[in-house]
Amino acid sequence: MPDPVILWFRRDLRLADQPALAAACQDGPVIPVYILDDDAPKHHAMGGASRWWLHHSLDSLAADLKENGSRLILRRGKSAEVLAKLAEETGAARVHCIRHWEPWWGNAERAVAKELELCCHDGNYLARPGSITTGSGKPFRIYTPFWRALKQHMPPADPLPRPRSIPAPSKWPASDKLADWSLLPTKPDWATGFGEWQPGEAGAHKRLDAFARHAARYDEERNFPSIEGSSRLSPHLHFGELSAAQAWHKTADAGGSVQTFLSELGWRDYAQNVILQFPAYATENARENFDRLPWRTGKAAKADLTAWQQGRTGYPIVDAGMRQLWTTGWMHNRVRMITASFLIKHLLIDWREGERWFWDCLVDADYGSNAVNWQWTAGSGVDSNMFVRIMAPLTQSEKFDAAGYIRRWVPELAKLNDKAIHDPDEAGCRPEDYPPKMIGHREARERALEAAKKTK
Ligand code: FAD
Repeated sequence: MPDPVILWFRRDLRLADQPALAAACQDGPVIPVYILDDDAPKHHAMGGASRWWLHHSLDSLAADLKENGSRLILRRGKSAEVLAKLAEETGAARVHCIRHWEPWWGNAERAVAKELELCCHDGNYLARPGSITTGSGKPFRIYTPFWRALKQHMPPADPLPRPRSIPAPSKWPASDKLADWSLLPTKPDWATGFGEWQPGEAGAHKRLDAFARHAARYDEERNFPSIEGSSRLSPHLHFGELSAAQAWHKTADAGGSVQTFLSELGWRDYAQNVILQFPAYATENARENFDRLPWRTGKAAKADLTAWQQGRTGYPIVDAGMRQLWTTGWMHNRVRMITASFLIKHLLIDWREGERWFWDCLVDADYGSNAVNWQWTAGSGVDSNMFVRIMAPLTQSEKFDAAGYIRRWVPELAKLNDKAIHDPDEAGCRPEDYPPKMIGHREARERALEAAKKTK
């Protein structure tokens, strides 16, 4: 029997359109392994909601591999050390993996390549991050020209089928038990509201199939939080249960406004290109003048941050979003923009506090996408909204018809009519029923504009 090869899974937890798996199957008996590697920088250790998702996704992947006569080996520790040990135990000649672009995965790949033959494949993005460049060969910093250039390379290659069989080694190495990793919350179990999700490849395709039926109306519906107008594929894409190419090919012919959906997949690619150029994007302002912005700190700011996190700001659209996030691990994109803008501009709290909270609470928490969107909202990013463009939460709430959404997530307001529900303070709601606004829009706006002068 030829020497086995190791298939190193990370955020690519699928069997179809998995180039590393396809290559490994051609290369010898395959030992699939997932390593719980807590070697990410401390400030970006995997968040709680992601760990919940990971547990269920690994469970699903292990079952899929079993169906194909294979297994999922679980190990914990530093990737390079674990893989070297596994290679020694099994006589494996090579490691196949899909390349990942978070700075800590780059470090891990370099460390593995020092010890073993590492074959990195592309597979999670429409195009390999770094491969789409300007006419003079430079990486793009701004989304629009990036997308224009990326489109020239589309469509992506046809997705690979699931391998017919996965050759097994003559002897399997030992594996940890998933339950022993304690990825799920216990006391308290804050994930009881995560039931709407089905992590894993089958769940990802169920979502994709359902979305493909209304993808033609994407642009008309996606901004309205009261309806399910977007795909909700983000956690599946983040964990690689679905490739971007699969999402593209399933929807691209839908007609209508599906191009807008495809351009959002482009944002996902763009974010990886940004962190490739700026690995510290989640912790450092891309525009240095923002280092001078006088963010609020201290006791009062801390209390305000807690009220925002708990959905008690007195702005129903903000509170609905923050409660949806806490309950389900996901938040509607329009509302992500509103809540992020509220934290940064109305409360004048450093965007990094919000980035960290989202990182912990989102099931789709993604180093690149989260940081790029927070810096975009703050105005501190390489491609950014201007700081002085301050979203008015009440106007947004009315414009995007959020009454139904608010009723669902802020049930104490459910009885208010469609007009009053956006601004219960104004409608005379009692403070014991719902908190008054933390700060008025005009006052917040003036304070933010004054602070922004320091960045000039
Ligand atoms: P759809 O509208 O159906 O879009 C399809 C896919 O395109 C998404 O699944 C996602 O993979 C990608 N996408 C869409 N919009 C964006 C975008 N603005 N940036 C990057 N990719 C995008 N998205 C994440 O995946 N992870 C994050 O950690 C994350 N943090 C965010 C933080 C803030 C402050 C904001 C404003 C946005 C953030 N987003 C993040 C982007 C966006 O909100 C989500 O991708 C989207 O809401 C997911 O829902 P969906 O799958 O229904 O998206």
